Amino acid sequence: MTKSLNNNYYNREEDEEKLTKDELIFFKEALEEKKVKIEKSLTKTNQEASSHTQNRCNDEGEDASFEITNNVNTTIVREQTKTLNQVNRCLNKIQTGLYGICTLCEEPINIERLKVKIFTEHCITCREIIEKQQQY
Ligand SMILES: [Zn+2]
Repeated sequence: MTKSLNNNYYNREEDEEKLTKDELIFFKEALEEKKVKIEKSLTKTNQEASSHTQNRCNDEGEDASFEITNNVNTTIVREQTKTLNQVNRCLNKIQTGLYGICTLCEEPINIERLKVKIFTEHCITCREIIEKQQQY
């Protein structure tokens, strides 16, 4: 059983480098869903941030916790905005037929990798290179 699964996997890599129409629809829907989720979450974070500002009182303890919450929110917003941009770029790529292609080496990204992280823009090889660069 395991053997035949492996065979299918290798055949797929050789024969079907490009995503099928069904797969593209699957990813498009998943990306749109992700987009809606992030946008909702961003609105919520922004609302929380502004309600914190409104409820702000002069007590020093409250002030400190406000700062911490605010920093966390800023990080979340920054991360979510980054992801949202990636999702939007991927949605554009679906329209132009470039989705699933690594932006660095222009090789097709493994579909199993795409399924795990639908808005990924790099193949495993390039991702590893980028991560190594970011460490230094
Ligand atoms: Zn690559």
